[in-house]
Parts: sequence; structure tokens; C-alpha cells
Amino acid sequence: MVFVSWYNASIKRKIGGLFVLLLSFLLATIVYSIYKIQLIEEEMREVAYLDIPLGQIMNQIEFIELEQHLEFEQVLLGDLDPNALEPHQQFVMEKNKLKQLLDRAINLISDSLNQEALQLNAVEHQQVSASLSDYYQLSHRYEDKLTQVMLAPKAHEQDIEQIETLAAELEAQQKQVIERLNQISRRDAYYTEQHEKEFLFVNSALGITALVLGLLLTVYIIRLILTRIRRIQGEIHSLNNSLEHGEPVPAPDISDVDSRDELASLEKDIQRVMLSLSGEMTYREEVEKQLLKLATQDRLTGVFNRHKWEEEIAKQVNLAKRGYQFGLIILDIDHFKRVNDQHGHDTGDQLLKRITATISERLRKTDMLFRIGGEEFAIILPMLDKPALEAVAESLQSLIESKRYEDLPPVTVSLGVTTFREFDDEISLFKRADSALYDAKRLGRNQVVYRE
Ligand code: GH3
Ligand code: MG
Ligand code: MG
Repeated sequence: MVFVSWYNASIKRKIGGLFVLLLSFLLATIVYSIYKIQLIEEEMREVAYLDIPLGQIMNQIEFIELEQHLEFEQVLLGDLDPNALEPHQQFVMEKNKLKQLLDRAINLISDSLNQEALQLNAVEHQQVSASLSDYYQLSHRYEDKLTQVMLAPKAHEQDIEQIETLAAELEAQQKQVIERLNQISRRDAYYTEQHEKEFLFVNSALGITALVLGLLLTVYIIRLILTRIRRIQGEIHSLNNSLEHGEPVPAPDISDVDSRDELASLEKDIQRVMLSLSGEMTYREEVEKQLLKLATQDRLTGVFNRHKWEEEIAKQVNLAKRGYQFGLIILDIDHFKRVNDQHGHDTGDQLLKRITATISERLRKTDMLFRIGGEEFAIILPMLDKPALEAVAESLQSLIESKRYEDLPPVTVSLGVTTFREFDDEISLFKRADSALYDAKRLGRNQVVYRE
């Protein structure tokens, strides 16, 4: 659905959509990065503020324990440094130091737990804290025993054994705490590494997806624009061609453009212009044809008129001067006035129509028939010699003589015939044919006269 509506959207919307998509990816990357960096930072903070100081404190505790043990050994051996403090004073000082360190360690953990700063290893840290409390108690017992032995005039074998056992327990407890802290640190390091990997992977995936999607959509939009531009160019080109050569403008298929972007609507506009131009040009051609017909055709009979006759005879004479032969017949209906007088003008008109139809049917396609007067016609016949010309004229004369039209009176025609001669012009040629016609009339009508 989304894709279909995007496909139909305008180019502005398409590009906007592409930007929104890319920005969404960027936003997702930023939000995800912030979340992951915070998580990693929390883990690092836990390590930096808690695990590392705890480790340091444990090292110091270990060191003090070692010192205490050493002093105790010295006391037992009587090998004391004369410049040093009294063993008892020294011991009290160390005992205080140890107490402070243990307090600090336990406070550090309980503060972190109270402030809910520990998110990853709260349970483990609670366990560390419990172990430290156990250690505290054990250390207390050990110190008590040491104090007791050191203040006694002589150390008993049994006391020394007890001290050794307590020292071993203390060491074991200490190791346990340190091991727990190490485990936590290791796990934190693992988590941090995992999160760093995830961070890298997800961000790369987002980046690559955005890049690929962005590229594909950009290529798609560019291709769409180019296709449309090419189509528009093609349409403008064919429009131009048609206008230049005066050919009819091809009517475009408007339903072809289905999308609603700016270029598509431009294309539709151009197609509409082409459609209206195409209609206009077809109409203009029709009008031109009509006008040409009106200018060259006789209204009553449909054959060429006098205007066309003048134009055509001049053309034929020009052609004939270059060796092209043609013949001319002038045909006049005999006593046509009588027909009008006896049967009426309408009958005369009908007769004129029917006779021209009869003549046209008898002529060849290359022959041309003109109405040059009321009941007077001229026929141009190309490439005919005298016998052929006389034969055509005589066949016309006998055809009309024998023809009977329903409800119309019979008529005859007289024909004057001639061929083009070397020094002829339109007038001399016509005069010769006309005088042949005159002779035909004079000789009694309904006949053909040929004049050289
Ligand atoms: P001729 O044998 O000597 O040619 O005699 P004609 O009567 O045919 O010749 P004329 O020139 O005396 O008369 C021609 C007649 O043709 C006169 C006119 O009434 C008629 N005419 C001319 N044009 C038309 C037309 O368009 N319709 C009709 N009905 N008659 C026409
Ligand atoms: Mg006549
Ligand atoms: Mg006449």
C-alpha cells in the first residue's frame, strides 16, 4: 500500500519520502548509539568506580595482613628493629588501617547498591559485600588473638597454631573476595566487548541498509524522471515533425500516463495540446478539401468548373510544349433552350446532371471533363492521336443520342475536336475546337467535326 501510494506520488513527494527514510535511519542510528554508549559507559563506570578501587583496597589489605604476619613472626623470634615503634603500637596502627580499608570497601559497595548505581552485577556485589563482612569478623578474631599473644609474656604453641589457622582462613577468605571481584571484572569486560560488537554491527547494518535503500530509490527516481523526459522529448519531436512537414499530428494515447507526478502531468498537458492540434489539423484539412472542391468543382454537375478549366488548359499547353500530346473536345447540347422552354428549367438541370454522368462514365480516369458554359463542356484527353480522339468523340455523340433517361426528353450533342499543335496557345487551341463545334452545329448538329 505504502509503495503503491509512493509510486503514484509526485516527484517532490518522492524525494521528500527518500529524505524522510534516510533521516529515519540516521535518527535510529543516533538513538541506538546513545543507548549503547550509555550502557557501555555504565559498565565502565561500574568497573572504574567500584571494581578497580575494590581491587586496590584488597591489595592493600593483603599487604597489611602480610605485615601483621611478619611482625608477629618477628615478635616470636625476638628479632625487633630498635628504631621501629613498639610491636603493640605498630599492630594497633595497622589494625586501624585495615579496619578503615575494610569499611571503605563495604561502604563503597553498599553506597553503590543504595544509589542503584549497580545495574549489571548487583547480586554479585552483594555477595562480595557479605564475604567482606565475613572477612571483617574473621580479621577481628585474628587480631584479637594476635593482641592477646603479643601482650602475653610468652607465646604458647597452641596459640601460635590457632593464629596460623586463623591467618590461613583469613587468606582463603581474602582470596575468595578477590576471586569474586576478578570474576565480576571479567564479566564486565565481556559484556562491554559484546556491547561494543553489537554497537558496531547494528550501526554498520543500519548504515549499509540506508545506503543501499537510498541508492536504489535515488536510481529509481532518476530513471523515472529520465523516462518521462524522454517520452516528452519524443512527443515534442513528433509534434515538431508533423508541424514542419504539414502532416497530421498523431493523436497520443492519454490513458498511457497513469502516475500523478509533475512530469506526468506535463506529459498529459503536451498530449492534450497534441490531441487538440491533431483535431484542429484534421478539421483544417477537411475545410481545405471542401474549399478546393468549391473552387474547382461545378456545383450542379460535380465536374470541374470554368476556373479549373482555365488553370488546367494552361498547364496542359505548357506540358505539350515539352512534347506531351493531348486532344481537346468541346461538346454542346443541341437546342437546349428548347428543353428548358418545353419542360422547365428543373428538367434542364436534371438533364445536365445525367449527361455529365454519362460522359464521365465513358471517359478514362486520366481524361478531364469541365463545364465551361451553361450547356457547354470541354474534355482534355491526354496522349491520344486523331483517330482515337475521333473515336471517343463519336462514341460520346452516339451514346447520348441513343440514351433514354427516365422522365427526361431525349437530346443530342455536337462536338468540335482538335489536337495540340506546335505553336498553339490556350486561345488558339480553344478557338480551333470551338470553330469545329460551330461547323458541327452548322452542318445540322448531333455530329462530330475534327479540325487539324
Ligand atoms: P444550339 O443547338 O445552337 O446550342 O442551341 P441551344 O438552345 O442549346 O443554344 P443557346 O445558346 O441558344 O441556349 C443555351 C441555353 O442553355 C440557354 C439556357 O436557357 C440554357 N442553360 C444554360 N445554362 C443552364 C443551366 O444551368 N440550367 C438549365 N436548365 N439551362 C441552362
Ligand atoms: Mg446548345
Ligand atoms: Mg451553348
